[in-house]
Parts: sequence; structure tokens; C-alpha cells
Amino acid sequence: MPDSDPLNSPGFATRAIRTGHHRTAEGEHSEPIFATSSFVFATAAEAAARFAGDAPGNIYSRFTNPTVRAFEERLAALEGGESCVATASGMAAILATCLGLLKAGDHVLSSRAIFGSTTVLFNKYLGRFGVATSYVDLPDLDAWAAAIQPNTRLLFLETPSNPLTEMADIRALADLAHAHGCLLVVDNCFCTPALQRPLSLGADLVIHSATKYLDGQGRCLGGAVVGDAQRVGEEVLGVIRTAGPSMSPFNAWVFLKGLETLELRMLAHARAAQALAEWLTAHPAVERVHYPGLASHPQHHLVGRQQRTGGGIVAFEVRGGREAAWRVIDATRFLSITANLGDTKSTITHPATTTHGRLSAEERARAGIGEGLIRVAVGLEDVDDIAADLALGLDRE
Ligand SMILES: *Cc1c(COP(=O)(O)O)cnc(C)c1O
Repeated sequence: MPDSDPLNSPGFATRAIRTGHHRTAEGEHSEPIFATSSFVFATAAEAAARFAGDAPGNIYSRFTNPTVRAFEERLAALEGGESCVATASGMAAILATCLGLLKAGDHVLSSRAIFGSTTVLFNKYLGRFGVATSYVDLPDLDAWAAAIQPNTRLLFLETPSNPLTEMADIRALADLAHAHGCLLVVDNCFCTPALQRPLSLGADLVIHSATKYLDGQGRCLGGAVVGDAQRVGEEVLGVIRTAGPSMSPFNAWVFLKGLETLELRMLAHARAAQALAEWLTAHPAVERVHYPGLASHPQHHLVGRQQRTGGGIVAFEVRGGREAAWRVIDATRFLSITANLGDTKSTITHPATTTHGRLSAEERARAGIGEGLIRVAVGLEDVDDIAADLALGLDRE
């Protein structure tokens, strides 16, 4: 048995369940939802002191709500960051990071394999305000190094990538970023802190779409930025306070509950995904399987070192292109045909015509997203049933 006070250095599961709830005088056991837009002051002088930042305390739920703060404290503790700011969605987290840390004339260097809306945000919207973005292949460290410009301010990536599950070496990219005076921003949506903690590998900021695994049951939209007290606690919070893409207290409460089971769920998602990836590898209708936990994966060496398991997303290619892929998808009986992920319910997607449909055929080919590619976000149903559902179509190909 440990001899020291467990609350001096609580483990991951303890933090996920206990951090952030400051019990009120009512003695509630579960975290309360503070469904209030504003807060009341005892005196005019107290109101003045809070608005001036001279006294701590709640003011207005756009930027100070106790339920939202509980979620922020808990996620910060799990990612190992000083500060966390919750946002209305994952995209709001990325937007707030850019507005807080960039100015006209700055350059963003990004992985090519990022969430579609993030690419549109960078190209269409940041571009209008004088921030340019260029793209490199995620695992190619030399390409990252060659593409850094004197005005590069942020390096941005997701690892593993969607849908091909390619991985970047976070520590190597953090070193590269810091050698050039840049910040490394990692969208940790696919792994969550239960499997990967980018800040401990040298990244400066972590982005989340809480909509995915942090919720875990597909109910609410939300996002978060985690990092140091200055950049996140002041710059990013300043954007949220001023511009307003804030998380609602109800959503924060759902995410708080999600965090309590995050580690259990992520390990179960990954166990099922590993089994499914191995089963798919042996299926004659499957040409190739993309899953970090397979020895055939080009960055398999990062599993165990950088991310704890292969994660919950599996992509595979069927022979016969789009027609065959659509037949396999349409033959399933219970898998959900939807682009969302990070749910107890398994989801199945044809990336070339949905999530990556806005890319040109040439861009898709360059990204390695073929017409026969299918992505499964493995849920928590019995994995034998998930395989049987896929076999309905695969066995006919
Ligand atoms: C879904 C997603 C986002 C955007 O999050 P929303 O909550 O939908 O705004 C960003 N990054 C990744 C990797 C995602 O999967």
C-alpha cells in the first residue's frame, strides 16, 4: 500500500473522478449544474472588485461558471496542464487558440491530415486576416523542418490522423518547434489524455473536441484548450470572454461525467479496435488495414512509447473501390452510418465521399484516401458482433 496521502499525487483515474468538484454547503455528492447566466454580489464594492479582477469569484457564465470550471480543472489535471479553457465546440477551441495567439503576418505550419473544418478555418478564414497556412505530411519530420518560415508561429497536428491513423513523433516536433521559436499545438481528440499526453512530450497546447470521446456517448458539442496559465489562462480565455463561444453548464456536466469513465472506455475501445483490426487483416476481401496497434503500421514503434494503445479508430481498404466499400457499409445491420466518432455506438464512414469529399480527387490521392477505404470508430458493443456486422458485406465481396 502507498504510504503517502493519495491526494498529494493522485493517479489518473482518481483525478478523472475527483478533481474539480468543490462541494457546496448543500453537501451534494454529484457535481451540481449551475444553470445561471449571472452571479450576484453582496455589495456594489464587491461587484466593482470582481469586474476589476481584484477579487476572485463568478461574474457571468460566458467566462465564469462553476460547472464549466469544474470540467476545466478536471481536464487540465488529466492533460497535465496549468490551465484549461472550455469552449462551445472543438472548432471554437481551435478558433480561440488562433485568435488568442496569432496576428496578421504570422504563418501556421500544419499537418495535411487534419479535420476538414480545421483546414477551411485555416485557409478561408485565417487567410482573410493575413495569417497564411502551409501543409506537410504528418510523419515526415524533414518536411516539417524544411517548411518552417521566419514568421511561423504555430505547428499544428492531430496524431493519430483521420482516417489513416498515421502518427507524428510529438517529442521530435516539439523540439523542432522550440528550436525555431514556435509553439506546438496538438489536437488530442483521437487519443484523449487516457492514452496520450502531448504536454508531457513537449507540446505547448492541447486542443480537444469534447464532442467525441470526452463525452463518449454522442450527446453534446464542446471543446477545450489546455496549456500554460499565460497563453491559455489569459490569451485564450480572453477570446472566449470577449467573443463568447463558451461551453454551457449542462454540457460541462455531461463532459464531467464522461471524464469519470474516460480511461475505462478508451482502454475498452482500443482493445476492441485491436481485435477488429487483426480480424480484418485476415479477411480475404480486405486489401489493407490501417491501425497503429498492428506491427504492419509504419509508426507502430510509437505505440507504447507515445500513445498507450492503438486507439479506437480502424480504417481498411476493400477490393473493388467505391462500389464495394458502399456495399459493405450498406450491408451492416447495426453499425451507424455517420461521420461522428468517440461513441459507445460503433460508426462506419466512407471518407472519400463524406469527411474528405470536399477535397479534389488529386488531393485525396495524395492523402492516401482511396475509394475503397472504410473507417470504423469502434464502439463498445461486443466486438464479435461488430465483426459479424462487417462480415455481412465483406463475405460477399
Ligand atoms: C470533430 C473534430 C473537431 C471539431 O470538433 P467539433 O466539436 O465538432 O467542433 C476537431 N478536431 C478533430 C480531430 C475532430 O475529430
